[in-house]
Amino acid sequence: MLSRLAVLSTRSIATSRVALGSQETVKLWIDNKPVESKTNKWIDLTNPATNEVIARVPQATQQEMQAAVESCKRAFHSWKNTSILTRQQTMFTLQALIRRDLKKLAENITMELGKTLPDSEGDVIRGLQVVEHACSAATLLLGETMPNISKDMDTYSLRLPIGVTAGITPFNFPAMIPLWMFPLSLVAGNTMVLKPSEQDPGVCMMLMELAKEAGVPDGVVNVVHGTHDSVNFICDNPDIQAISFVGSDQAGKHIYTRGSKNGKRVQSNMGAKNHGVIMPDANKETTLNQLTAAAFGAAGQRCMALTTAVFVGESRKWIPDILEKAKKLRVDVGWKPDTDIGPLISPAAKNRVLGLIKSAKKEGANVILDGSNCVVKGFENGNFVGPTIITGVKPSMTCYKEEIFGPVLCIVEVETLDEAIDLINRNPYGNGTAIFTTNGITARRFTNLIDVGQVGINVPIPVPLPTFSFTGSRGSFIGDQNFYGKAGLNFYTQLKTVTQFWRSEDASPEAKPQLAFPQLK
Ligand code: NAD
Repeated sequence: MLSRLAVLSTRSIATSRVALGSQETVKLWIDNKPVESKTNKWIDLTNPATNEVIARVPQATQQEMQAAVESCKRAFHSWKNTSILTRQQTMFTLQALIRRDLKKLAENITMELGKTLPDSEGDVIRGLQVVEHACSAATLLLGETMPNISKDMDTYSLRLPIGVTAGITPFNFPAMIPLWMFPLSLVAGNTMVLKPSEQDPGVCMMLMELAKEAGVPDGVVNVVHGTHDSVNFICDNPDIQAISFVGSDQAGKHIYTRGSKNGKRVQSNMGAKNHGVIMPDANKETTLNQLTAAAFGAAGQRCMALTTAVFVGESRKWIPDILEKAKKLRVDVGWKPDTDIGPLISPAAKNRVLGLIKSAKKEGANVILDGSNCVVKGFENGNFVGPTIITGVKPSMTCYKEEIFGPVLCIVEVETLDEAIDLINRNPYGNGTAIFTTNGITARRFTNLIDVGQVGINVPIPVPLPTFSFTGSRGSFIGDQNFYGKAGLNFYTQLKTVTQFWRSEDASPEAKPQLAFPQLK
């Protein structure tokens, strides 16, 4: 299966990689063409299940990044003047092509990131939903009109593109997050430079090929690769008007500060620590199944993973049951059909998670299930960590304070709903939270009092569809306009108002100049 995956992946991104000895290089994407970088700085792209190097990713040179921006600038002049129908139809075609290639895209994600194949398909599908949303841009971009705002005077507003935009994306949703960005930016009439994660850029390159096939003209979307230097280039380049960022706190705060200082609009989605509150009246089986999936799915590498279970009162009796469910999860390579948990993205990520499990033991918590020594037969070099459950967790512990980003569930016990609410509201993050209960009054109290941007009632991962926006709050987001939904299009557009005056008296031959300051009536 590995070799089949490798072959498929190579074939499907054949135009974006070139053979280089036994390895391949990932190319830049400029003017709808794969471009071989002239850099001498390369990053190894590995398969997390084996740590074999499957390709090398360039750190683009300053000239190459400048070429990408110049290409976006050139393309903007004609793209912004294409009709909204043309841009919308391009998105219709793109969504059909992504659906056509769903399996290939998912296979690439599994190879470069390690997720299970069904989870990789989910990654693509949740991004595809934003493309589908972009297909209704003609309605979403409507301005407002007020006729007769004064006598013979009308005012109307226009939502216009802002120019060259940029997107910087994380490793954990390599299809979904680029798809949160470029379809909406483009359908609004902008152009975009994308900088995907250097850890798994393959699927983004495949999406570029599909965008070209869908009819996106040359230069409307370009891709550069790299790490800090490319990010700083984007923050400083005077021709880039806006930056969409999704990733860790450190990078997000840096990009927000540096980009804003340079006068850019920035939206920055960052890290998380999501709590699930289990009430004693919850439906036990459903709740524990949902909790298990939300804590350990994608090996915990989701910003909306439910990583902290807050058992309220008598519900603590169910802790042994969740332990049993977690023990049954199968850790293996992502391309096997019965795998529940794949590898982590890198040895560094694995070491970080192992360090946090160790810190929990040292700080007095109980590691009742320890996946630290997990080995998958035949894939001994992979970055595997087994499901891990830590009980007796206190807010002062490192494992509670840090985002773990691994298959680790921290369990906190409290006596009342209000104690749970207080705990969650004291946590600096506000990405997501969930309550499991059969009591509407409890759910309503939780919803009203909780200070977290995305709330689930018996929904463990409450990420809204693009009719709404992704509304993480507090420490999980900096900016004014959220990703996708109406806010997403507002981010990628600027408002212009036009006030027009067609005096009815002007039709009369007796009309005279009015020198007094106009008082609108
Ligand atoms: P990351 O911050 O390491 O990388 C994200 C992007 O920023 C990459 O393109 C990377 O090259 C660049 N980058 C990394 N460090 C940088 C630095 N110091 N300065 C400038 N640029 C830098 O994030 P990651 O490890 O790829 O992704 C995981 C993180 O993303 C987690 O914290 C997760 O919670 C978060 N995330 C958040 C959301 C959300 O919507 N809130 C969604 C997905 C992931």
